[in-house]
Amino acid sequence: MNETPNGTTPVVTDKVRVRMAPSPTGFLHIGGARTALFNWLFAKHHNGTFILRIDDTDTARSTDESMHEIYTALQWLGLAWDEGCDKGGPYGPYVQSERKAIYDGYVTQLLESGNAYHCYCTPEELEEIREQARADKQTRSYDGRCQYLTSEAVDRFVAEGRKPTVRIKMPDTPILVDDLVLGSRNIDPATLEDEVIVRSNGMPNYNLTSIIDDAEMQITHVIRGTEHLNNTPKQIAIANALGLAVPQFAHIPLVLDNGGRKLSKRHHGDLVAVNRYREQGYLREAMLNFVARLGWSYDDKQEIFSVDELIEKFDLARVGKSGSVFDIKKLEWLNSHYINQLSLSARTDAVIPFWQAADLIDSTEKRDWLENIVAAVGERLTTLQDIIPQTRYFFTDEFAYDPKAVKKWWGGSEEKRGKTSEILTHLGQILEEVPSFDVETVEAAIWKYTDENDIKRVAAMQALRIALTGTSFGPSLFDIVILLGKDEVLKRIPKAIAHL
Ligand code: GLU
Repeated sequence: MNETPNGTTPVVTDKVRVRMAPSPTGFLHIGGARTALFNWLFAKHHNGTFILRIDDTDTARSTDESMHEIYTALQWLGLAWDEGCDKGGPYGPYVQSERKAIYDGYVTQLLESGNAYHCYCTPEELEEIREQARADKQTRSYDGRCQYLTSEAVDRFVAEGRKPTVRIKMPDTPILVDDLVLGSRNIDPATLEDEVIVRSNGMPNYNLTSIIDDAEMQITHVIRGTEHLNNTPKQIAIANALGLAVPQFAHIPLVLDNGGRKLSKRHHGDLVAVNRYREQGYLREAMLNFVARLGWSYDDKQEIFSVDELIEKFDLARVGKSGSVFDIKKLEWLNSHYINQLSLSARTDAVIPFWQAADLIDSTEKRDWLENIVAAVGERLTTLQDIIPQTRYFFTDEFAYDPKAVKKWWGGSEEKRGKTSEILTHLGQILEEVPSFDVETVEAAIWKYTDENDIKRVAAMQALRIALTGTSFGPSLFDIVILLGKDEVLKRIPKAIAHL
């Protein structure tokens, strides 16, 4: 593990240390959750340390609200960190905005060793230089001119009130990027311009802070999305100039939508927000299983992985080189699988907050009754949120009768509706008179009535189902009758007849 490319200082620890380093500029999206998960799994698999670092040097865009969103999402997924912002640890602080003095020290070192220089170019001048470079077909869009400034020129710029940036001087020799997923590449230094590492407002930039923190925090492996691939040679160059340890890199290919487009907050809105899935009633286990398979596979066959199995089997060698597709159908399938795996009691616990949020219950006093409702729903839930439309009628009789179901089963014509009314009236009488209100007795009494009067069983059942629930599908009708209870059933039948 200690071999690093470019013959630079190796990381000194033998223990795997990885980090997730979100910028708190929005919600945690699926790609971010995948980065977190792969790092966490890698750490767990190797008995290593998982660190949460907050990359908030972009103070204008970083918000506490976003940080809170990211925490909630990671906590929901159960990706607990061993060291990090709120937790502390031997290499803190873990929030970059609190580490400015550390970065300043390194910048001084770079300036003094001649590996960095102040750049006084104004945005307008930079634009001109870029134009010229384009016209000259140069690969670097900045020509490094400020490293040759005379002290008179510097004095003049300072007197004009210009605030300089700091640029790192890129090396002349190729930079080897040795990637555990994508393999090795030699980067031609002519393609890298002298990167701005400190902005004119004095705030250090991501490429500088990231590699300094990775070294200071003894990070052994940087596992992140391929959108950072272009940053990696720059970070290596900075580390080399400072004599800092260079971690091993592993870049994970992009997550794409069905059309092959990169999944992004900009194009896909909150479809990519992890918390949205929590709110909709996706289970943590389903989400982790789904996200793990975005780019990683075990044997191209197995789809269902428990968290423990993921920890046992996760391996960077089996992360693919090409993009993976975000398929919501697969997530739904996994979610219903995991919901169905829950015991009745656990499933009831899981749906109770959804009933409460929909104001359908305010206490869980009638626990047995609630469990029986969940049992009646059976394996029909794709998300926990589905419990609401599927069971609302148990809690309230204020529901609309589905017009399609009404037309089909209650009838379109006066005559047919009259007949339905008659059937419902009889069913009401039968249910009022049954000696005991249980599934067997109720079922036998209803069949006796339909069979003796030559009424199709399904017609009577559906007519009653719509009267009690408003729709033509759902759990077993007899379960519904018993769960609603005699009083409620005998109230709903006349209400339906009046509607007819
Ligand atoms: N703050 C960066 C991001 O959120 C971290 C990238 C990295 O892992 O180095 O994309």
